[in-house]
Amino acid sequence: MSDYDVIVVGGGPAGSTTARRCAQKGMQTLLMDKARFPRDKPCAGGIRNIVRELLDFPIDEVVHRRVYGQRFYSPSGLKVECIRPQISGDLVMREEFDHLLFRKAGEAGAELWDGTRAVGVAQDSDKVTVALDDGRTVTADFVVGADGINSTVARSLGFYEGWKRDTAAVAIEVEVEVGADAVTRICGVPFDREGVSIDIFFGPVPYGYVWCFPKRSVLSLGAGCRQDRAQNIRQHFNKWLESFVEEHDIEPEIVSDSAARLPYSGAAERTVVGRALLVGDAAGFVNPFSGEGIPMAIESGIIAADVLNRAVREKDPKLLREYEGRWKKRFMDDLKVGKSIAKLVFKSEKNMETVLRLAYEDEYIRDIMYKMIAELDTYERLKRQLVRRILTRHARAGLSLYT
Ligand SMILES: Cc1cc2nc3c(=O)[nH]c(=O)nc-3n(C[C@H](O)[C@H](O)[C@H](O)COP(=O)(O)OP(=O)(O)OC[C@H]3O[C@@H](n4cnc5c(N)ncnc54)[C@H](O)[C@@H]3O)c2cc1C
Repeated sequence: MSDYDVIVVGGGPAGSTTARRCAQKGMQTLLMDKARFPRDKPCAGGIRNIVRELLDFPIDEVVHRRVYGQRFYSPSGLKVECIRPQISGDLVMREEFDHLLFRKAGEAGAELWDGTRAVGVAQDSDKVTVALDDGRTVTADFVVGADGINSTVARSLGFYEGWKRDTAAVAIEVEVEVGADAVTRICGVPFDREGVSIDIFFGPVPYGYVWCFPKRSVLSLGAGCRQDRAQNIRQHFNKWLESFVEEHDIEPEIVSDSAARLPYSGAAERTVVGRALLVGDAAGFVNPFSGEGIPMAIESGIIAADVLNRAVREKDPKLLREYEGRWKKRFMDDLKVGKSIAKLVFKSEKNMETVLRLAYEDEYIRDIMYKMIAELDTYERLKRQLVRRILTRHARAGLSLYT
């Protein structure tokens, strides 16, 4: 007899959601995380509307600001506004958001072990064994790797060796306290006093972008780019930061300064091996263009719990295979489209400028971009509309993106 039906390693959005849903379905569930909660996590904290739809509890207590779209800046400084009076998402601090999700897993009946690191995982024909950093072991019928980009579960069980430099991105995130009035002045929108836009700057870093994601009185400023292009990312970011501070005449107090890697190349080749499956960043579920992973982390957890439920009841690990088909149906197109847009736009500063100039001059293109941001249609369909528009109205500029 195993100690648990399911052990979930990692208590971020993917793991906490998996554990909550497993516990709700009556599975004996253990959720462990190496950190003690509340714990911080380098992140811009932007979550789309779909996150509210996916979660089965309100998140208002941890929402700092509501988002009404995005502003993009080209390398030469063109400003492209994709903002509408409809809410497109929320801004949260991960320390608070993740703590809420972790607690909700506990409320549903999952056993919570924070401050507990998994150092190795093994599986045989009838169970998995997780070795802990204090020398103990714990067993279960199934294990879920929700332990992020450096997943111990994935590496121990041979899913993959790790994310290489051209399949991972590096991101710096600096949180600066500027006061609520300054946040509203810099990021505010005309139709809601507390509402804001997210600002994205193309050009300051190669193969990526710089961002400004506002919170109640703090700005999350950061830069992300593919790891093999990231040699001088800190210098590039600091230079941009100096001009940002000067332009907005602020005296920022740095409250945190961190960096982290994230998967960049789309999903891992395998996400199920025997009695184990991967969710969230451990599975590579991050959009390669935007760097967003929270919605897919949560949704992969929901799908995983559903699949585990049958596997636990029927004591049949082969049933886990259904997981791959289900997440592919939901995310594969978005991951592929995100990757192809990243490849084209991030290719050069010239391409970043061309794409944003097209959006600046053509309201139809701005409208498609807004629909992507607000998820008003699928990425795949919107990409097709974008390509058709560029080919029919802007053929020369469109072709120049490929040279
Ligand atoms: C700088 C930056 C900005 C980002 N901004 C956004 C954004 O605005 N919006 C968005 O949607 N996405 C964003 N992302 C991506 C997003 O943060 C991730 O996709 C998301 O956190 C994935 O959730 P997860 O639960 O899979 O992994 P994580 O949130 O990384 O959680 C993994 C957990 O596993 C634990 N863990 C790791 N190893 C072990 C172990 N051996 N034993 C026990 N526990 C372990 C960790 O402590 C951690 O709590 C950003 C990423 C970065 C780096």
